[in-house]
Amino acid sequence: MTVPGFEFLEQEIQNLKDQGLYRPLRVISSTNDAEFVVDGKKVINLSSNNYLGFTTHPKLIKMANDATSKYGVGSGAVRTIAGTMDIHEELERKLAEFKHTEAALMFQSGFTANVGVLQSMLSDQDVVISDQLNHASIIDGIRLTKAARKVYQHCDMDDLEKALKETQDKRVRLVVTDGVFSMDGDIAPLKDITELAEKYDAMVMVDDAHASGVLGQNGRGSVSHWGLDGRVHIQIGTLSKAIGSVGGYVAGAQVLRDYLIHVARPFLFSTSHPPSVVATCIGAIELLDQEPEHVDRLWENTRYFKDGIAKLGFDTGRSETPIVPVIVGEAPEAMALSDKVYEKGVFAQGIGFPTVPKGQARLRCMMSATHTHEHLDTALTAIEDAGKELGII
Ligand SMILES: *Cc1c(COP(=O)(O)O)cnc(C)c1O
Repeated sequence: MTVPGFEFLEQEIQNLKDQGLYRPLRVISSTNDAEFVVDGKKVINLSSNNYLGFTTHPKLIKMANDATSKYGVGSGAVRTIAGTMDIHEELERKLAEFKHTEAALMFQSGFTANVGVLQSMLSDQDVVISDQLNHASIIDGIRLTKAARKVYQHCDMDDLEKALKETQDKRVRLVVTDGVFSMDGDIAPLKDITELAEKYDAMVMVDDAHASGVLGQNGRGSVSHWGLDGRVHIQIGTLSKAIGSVGGYVAGAQVLRDYLIHVARPFLFSTSHPPSVVATCIGAIELLDQEPEHVDRLWENTRYFKDGIAKLGFDTGRSETPIVPVIVGEAPEAMALSDKVYEKGVFAQGIGFPTVPKGQARLRCMMSATHTHEHLDTALTAIEDAGKELGII
């Protein structure tokens, strides 16, 4: 039914439908685990960011419940008014320790962490230099700064150096990159980026949403993976992916934390996390040290699945991580493959333009520590059969 006044949106929706880009939300009625119930059907889950299976870890569920009993279901205010509980600060100390930085500050999400930092840190005397394929939240943060902007070709160090050379008159030059790129699963060359930044006296910010809990010693992330402790100025993290809950954070210098507390708008004007979430995240950071087997299993599954996909003759592009794109061509093909594997009991979301370039539509398959080889074998068979039925392989 068209509601008067909304005809223009009806038209926009029709445009999406014409391009094969209109997708209804899929509804889950179980935990989000290696298997889950989507639209009423139990299927193997190849689409969640729950890398380590922490969404259902018994220790974390208990910590969430205990915190709810002790502190209630909500924090009651923004952090700067009356919403900073002792557990918020305990989590921030743990995050700083985990990232080997002086300090850390939580945000409501990884998205608002990027927006909050980029929006508030730089002035019109500065420049931000950003990888072409950085996450949408970095792009939006950059839209909100008064600083000049430069975008360099994806992971292209010559192009980055050119941008650094051209901006030497600026007060601050901030180079921003994803640690692991979320659609292709490739790892940013953070060592090269850092060395170039040092050469031109620039700062470095890495967004480790897909690297924390995945790369580095005990899942410490890109900075640990590349051996760059003390050389990367700002590390963004999310509590919503490997950590299994929700939230984001910035890890870096104490002076950065002190500044952001006073000026970062999402921090100032949005209520802090409920106690259950904070306690879960404290527990998850502890688990990364206590139970390294989750990260090991994640990588073992990644090798196993990638081998299988390569044997089927699919292209997995630049992937070096548990993000395994199965690239098939245009969006309608990717969506058809996604629908067919779902019929066969496997959920792998199809992704097309504009999230990825035209011609590179894909099934985006995400590995988790909780997948068994049996799950992965079933998934590989479903993708093989569906690929053959559709004439893709
Ligand atoms: C998912 C993601 C975010 C956003 O994190 P949320 O906690 O889900 O808001 C930010 N940056 C990158 C690179 C991401 O992949």
